[in-house]
Amino acid sequence: MLEVLRRLIQDVNAADSLEDALLLIVAQVRAAMQTDVCTIYLHDKPSEKLIFRATEGLNKDKVGQFGLSFDEGLVGWVATREEPLNLDDASAHPQFQWVEGLGEEPFNAFLGAPIVHQRDLLGVVVVQQEDHRRFSEDEEAFLITVSAQLAGLIAHAELAGAISQSPFSKHDTESAARLSGIAACSGIGIGTAAWVSPHADLQTVPSRQAADRRVELKAFREALASVRTDIQQVAENLEDELGPEDRALFGVYLNILDDSTLGGEVAALIKAGEWAQGALSQVMLRHIRHFERMEHSYLRERAVDVRDLGTRVLGYLQDANRQQVDYPDATVLVAEELTASTLGEIPRDKLVGIVSMRGSANSHTVILARAMGIPAVVGVEDLPLKRLPDQRLVVDGYNGRIYVNPHADLLARFEGLLAEDEALFEELAPLAERSALTADGALIPLWVNTGVAADVQRAREFGAEGVGLYRTEVSFLLRDRFPSEEEQRQLYREQLEAFHPAPVTMRTLDIGGDKALPYFPIEESNPFLGWRGIRVTLDHPEIFLTQVRAMLRANEGLTNLRILLPMVTAIDELRVARDLILRCHREVLSEGCSAPLPPLGVMIEVPAAVYLARPLAEEADFLSVGSNDLTQYLLAVDRGNARVAGLYQAFHPAVLAALEHIIEAAHQSAKSVSICGELAGDPRAAPLLVAMGFDQLSMNAGSLSVIKRVLSAFTRSELSVLVSKLRPMRSAPEVVAALDLALAERGLDRFLRRAATA
Ligand code: PEP
Ligand code: MG
Repeated sequence: MLEVLRRLIQDVNAADSLEDALLLIVAQVRAAMQTDVCTIYLHDKPSEKLIFRATEGLNKDKVGQFGLSFDEGLVGWVATREEPLNLDDASAHPQFQWVEGLGEEPFNAFLGAPIVHQRDLLGVVVVQQEDHRRFSEDEEAFLITVSAQLAGLIAHAELAGAISQSPFSKHDTESAARLSGIAACSGIGIGTAAWVSPHADLQTVPSRQAADRRVELKAFREALASVRTDIQQVAENLEDELGPEDRALFGVYLNILDDSTLGGEVAALIKAGEWAQGALSQVMLRHIRHFERMEHSYLRERAVDVRDLGTRVLGYLQDANRQQVDYPDATVLVAEELTASTLGEIPRDKLVGIVSMRGSANSHTVILARAMGIPAVVGVEDLPLKRLPDQRLVVDGYNGRIYVNPHADLLARFEGLLAEDEALFEELAPLAERSALTADGALIPLWVNTGVAADVQRAREFGAEGVGLYRTEVSFLLRDRFPSEEEQRQLYREQLEAFHPAPVTMRTLDIGGDKALPYFPIEESNPFLGWRGIRVTLDHPEIFLTQVRAMLRANEGLTNLRILLPMVTAIDELRVARDLILRCHREVLSEGCSAPLPPLGVMIEVPAAVYLARPLAEEADFLSVGSNDLTQYLLAVDRGNARVAGLYQAFHPAVLAALEHIIEAAHQSAKSVSICGELAGDPRAAPLLVAMGFDQLSMNAGSLSVIKRVLSAFTRSELSVLVSKLRPMRSAPEVVAALDLALAERGLDRFLRRAATA
């Protein structure tokens, strides 16, 4: 069964259209289950009907010709209840209904299963048979498994179909395909999609019309010639290692690309109008699939050769193509996975948005995108990369959504929001010069989070009063080896000087989780519960000591450094780290560097640290709450997983109770406590966090002005009333609603769009 499923999924994945996908499903399911009929009905949301979309065994002329309501027929029964229905005599069921001309008369046994994707009913799959018999439990389980597996593929194919429609077709309202992912950088971006692939990847090449067939054909021939030369070179290089027989294999290898074989097929497709990359990818993938299905293992392995050859040719085609790309003035970068080099591919003044299939809100490239202030949505699992290039896209970086080919009304709405954002930016500009004050004049220290050089520039523009979190790992992530002590010293010196005399809180290397150094890979099955943050650096004192020495030396003559330890779960980690820092301090003093010992802080990011907040506060100099991780670990919700993003509730009462507990522990020990997770820069959260008693809020530079404006609308007594009103609330939506109301009453609802953390 697994083999049948695997093939089915592979074939459906490769289908060019929803129609093809459905045809494959009905044919293969009927064959696998040895039934007389297999049919798929799909849910058409505007008409609220289950449309007869594909069949093997019933009258195919009826495909697309009729639909059933949810209260009609056995199919409606399955759809309404979202559960399977297994009958030996379908016509005896009270909800049974004949459809004229469908050809169901001979069939008695009926088994239907709903197709559900992320709680959404997509349709119903039905098998039928002449015999009067109930389908076995095994058959029922098989159909349920098939439908669960296919749901994602159908959703994907439906979306691809919607994207291919013209934007102003009669299906206007459906034509805006909406996709959801993780909101990685707030803002609205409207532009034309451009796909950038870091490595040649046959799977992600879009199909596209050749602008000039002759040019494409020439490019293909040149790429082929280059690959031939490469392979001959490889063969020559291995002359001493391989015998003549083995070397003959390279000849076979090269023959694959001959005109009489795959090369000829690619050329024919180009002549038919497809661009070279598309033609290559289609032909190669078809043959790879063919080889992969071979029974004989030797032949199956040829798939690897074909893929390798195809990838090599594609690499040359893309290199040739890359120089010619002329990106539109407003370009939305779409990629399978963002890398710093893909980000650098598109000129900054043309880049208006970023969308990627993989990645999480805090991957290093996203941090980079955020520093550049480009709206971004990542982790869009259903992203149909092949269909997107040249389509118009709206990136809603506030809500983690993208819209493909939006219809006129939707587009106008987002253009309006973009214009509002620009106006707001202008309106708030003067606030950059001022401190954050409550309506009754209390000063609220707003600090900034930094990581890359662009952050420093923006932080200065927006008037930050200190750095609450300098993510030192970002500069480690952007290299191909560990930076030396001197390289680090210079980087840290720049940070300290840029903000001097304001404090700069440098976090020691926080890698692991979703932050992997290319030159120090950490392979773990559960990385967020694995070797992360201080656990890594205490196991590698050489890394920790080098970093701390660089920080201390950078601080000479400035004295605005604070050191912060990430992912602390036990008091011992603080003690050992402090001992190492003391050792470094003695060393640098003995070397003649006169830097003082900086304050040492602990990040509160895991539940254990919440319960240990009091002793940690007593032994450390300050605390800083990493609410991104704290929320993840308290709620057991992966912060980078789009599928559970709805459960990642920063206003969950458990999170809020933890925050209050931490503040109390810090203040009872007469230590200051700041918050540096995304929550601090959320306009909905900031008044609450101030009311709770945080001593500083540290956020991205782009949030500073908005938060100043929001805080200026509350007096301190209003803030304490607000927090006592929220304390008894039992769910995140209740808290969010109360905060929304508080903002709306002060005319601040237009800032709510920037509150992406609800
Ligand atoms: C946090 O976890 O809230 C935090 C600030 O650290 P990071 O996002 O870098 O993990
Ligand atoms: Mg963290």
